[in-house]
Amino acid sequence: MSIIRRLFSRNLKSEKIIFSDTNIEESRQKRYNRFMIVMKFGGTSVKTADRIREACEIIRKTAQEDRVTVVASAMKGVTEALISSGKTAEKRDESYRMAIEEVRNRQYEAIEELFSGSDKASVKAGIDTFLQEWEEILIGVSLVKNCSPRSADLIAGMGERMNNYIIARYLESTGTPAVYIDAREIIKTDDNYGAANVLFDVSVPLIRSRIAAVKGIPVVTGFISSTVNGISTTLGRNGSDYTAGILGHALDASRIEIWTDVDGVMSADPRIVEKALVIPEISSFEAMELSYLGAQVIHPSTMAPALEKGIPIFIKNTMNPTAAGTKIVCTPVLHETPITGIAVMNDICLINIEGSGMIGKPGIAAEVFSALAKRKINVIMISQCSSEHSICFACSRKEAADAADALKCDLAKYLEQRIISGIQTTADCVTVAVIGENMIGSPGIAGKIFSALGDASVNVLAIAQGSSERNVSAIISAADKEAAVKAVHKKFFGV
Ligand code: ASP
Ligand code: MG
Repeated sequence: MSIIRRLFSRNLKSEKIIFSDTNIEESRQKRYNRFMIVMKFGGTSVKTADRIREACEIIRKTAQEDRVTVVASAMKGVTEALISSGKTAEKRDESYRMAIEEVRNRQYEAIEELFSGSDKASVKAGIDTFLQEWEEILIGVSLVKNCSPRSADLIAGMGERMNNYIIARYLESTGTPAVYIDAREIIKTDDNYGAANVLFDVSVPLIRSRIAAVKGIPVVTGFISSTVNGISTTLGRNGSDYTAGILGHALDASRIEIWTDVDGVMSADPRIVEKALVIPEISSFEAMELSYLGAQVIHPSTMAPALEKGIPIFIKNTMNPTAAGTKIVCTPVLHETPITGIAVMNDICLINIEGSGMIGKPGIAAEVFSALAKRKINVIMISQCSSEHSICFACSRKEAADAADALKCDLAKYLEQRIISGIQTTADCVTVAVIGENMIGSPGIAGKIFSALGDASVNVLAIAQGSSERNVSAIISAADKEAAVKAVHKKFFGV
């Protein structure tokens, strides 16, 4: 919950957007953008020539009816290669040159297939300019043996610049006028490198005027941005969704489409529940709960700027474009089933702090969580029974050893005094979370969930329900994951 709140305050705080222009200008913009659709293509949807071709076909069809702004990610895997190249160069390890050649090969391969005639050479030359810039930065990084956060952001964004350039040129070459736009011109942020905060009041007018001036389809780089002084920043990993949200917000888009490689938000992971259903419509709150819990179809913060303006977000499948997908709306949705979906978070560790001395003793919970906070350990779930005999919480497996260590150090005095009798760690757990707007105020759902788990002989280690009542989470052993998800899905969806 705290993450959600942080996210919302991050995006909404500065966002009393004051239009410097007159009302007439505003309504002209609205009219002009009435059917503006922001279409975002993720890394898997634009990872090869074939995929780019399919994506452009989808773009072209939509552009026949409506105005379109395109946002695309880097080819899948390229961002990772870019990020690690900075780390390699920093160590004076020359193998960063191999990374450049590998990326060059991928871009060239796509260009070879997508373009013909003189376009081939000219698009390759365009890509070479980006690659040269990348190489020069890496030489600098290697010389100073330091990849600063500022350099890292500049490097990380090269993939979006290359790919959107190719997409724009490809649309052009196939008769659809398109213009490549480097988002650093229009999305302005603070200098929190790696996950910069957007300055909406500066960015919105820039976005509006730049996009309005484009003749053809604007093809905008996802993920990247810059400070008001023009220093490159990024919006955080998977930030292209957020780019789409920002553009949708600024352009008063009628919808945002997130094109990916799944049919939409599913009622459960289809690798576990073969007959999992696509959820046709879902509230942003439910979508957010699902995203945080591992059903990652969308970067959750995308939703904040769109939500504020009531812009719906559609999750669509590039490989199955005619499927309806999932519509995410900002209002509660009434579903036919009492729950909306089941999400799993893997690699969880449960830590239990026990001791009869804790009963009625104020301040212990505060000390537990401040010990964790000091080590920057993220607490995923908390549960304490009213007997107060134990407090348990879940964190990721990666942080478990650190968490146990923090507790043993900071709570040493309670351990010595036997106020706390022990700290146990249970590794190899997962969180199974049942999510749904319909669960609010409707009795019997928790009962059904736990009877389904009981019938499947799944032992529940800890339970938590947020007071929002949109989420009931249970921690179970990882070995029981499949049985648990299948049983709960069957109970509520019949399949
Ligand atoms: N390419 C960036 C990343 O992989 C941004 C994105 O794909 O959304 O994080
Ligand atoms: Mg992505």
